[in-house]
Amino acid sequence: MAVLFDLHSHCDLSFDGKSSAEEMVRRAVELGVMYYALTDHVDLGDHADPDQDIETTVNGAREQIPELRKRYADKVTLLYGVELGQAVHEPETAERLLRENGYDFVIGSVHNVRGYDDFYFLDHNKLDPIKLLDIYFDELLETAEWGKFDVMAHITYPLRYIVGEYGIKIDMQRWKGRLDEIFRALIRNGCGIEINTSGLRQKLNRLMPEASMVKRYRELGGEILTVGSDAHCTDDLGKGIEEGIAAAREAGFDRIAVFKNRKPTFVEI
Ligand SMILES: [Zn+2]
Ligand SMILES: [Zn+2]
Repeated sequence: MAVLFDLHSHCDLSFDGKSSAEEMVRRAVELGVMYYALTDHVDLGDHADPDQDIETTVNGAREQIPELRKRYADKVTLLYGVELGQAVHEPETAERLLRENGYDFVIGSVHNVRGYDDFYFLDHNKLDPIKLLDIYFDELLETAEWGKFDVMAHITYPLRYIVGEYGIKIDMQRWKGRLDEIFRALIRNGCGIEINTSGLRQKLNRLMPEASMVKRYRELGGEILTVGSDAHCTDDLGKGIEEGIAAAREAGFDRIAVFKNRKPTFVEI
């Protein structure tokens, strides 16, 4: 089966991206991706990665992506996207960026909580994972209540490190009620969630989130679901999308959302 969607990816406009925007688009065309989004990182707040320069990313994307969208229009539907991290740490900046740029698609994410670095950089042997996850899911709820994005990224992101890299066992039962609140806030605000397939390429070896959590989102009335590889180079583009679509079906979805001008339309799966 051809890969149909990939609604989460980064080019070298992101501080950690490896391939150029055009290389990524060409790879998407080569794979037969019908709907493809470049969603470069704009991480807000005091603890964002010091290597990133928001203005360079934002301006670079604005110069390049709408142009590529036009140039490759007969080959792929390219979405001009952004992954907005920690919006609630700097809501005025977040709102200004959304106002000033004509994005098709906005992913909301939390890579770090207030007062801490990205989960990627933390020494999880020295921290209390339960306390940290309590704070994380509180901030995820705050982000969902803010709600000025289209889908919430990789809801189980800290598990990539706590479980995947450090091998610490976590029982998600503790946050079941919190997750329900997050899903309800997202649905109320017209936002969705994504199935992020990057965990399959890492030690975590799971989708973020897994089908069971996506199923719960659906039970609560969630309809907007996207699937993305979170590729940071051409090699990873489209990886795990079939598994992501299978998980969406398992969770009861028969269609996946794609976006244009911040409005969802649905494609049968
Ligand atoms: Zn992310
Ligand atoms: Zn990402």
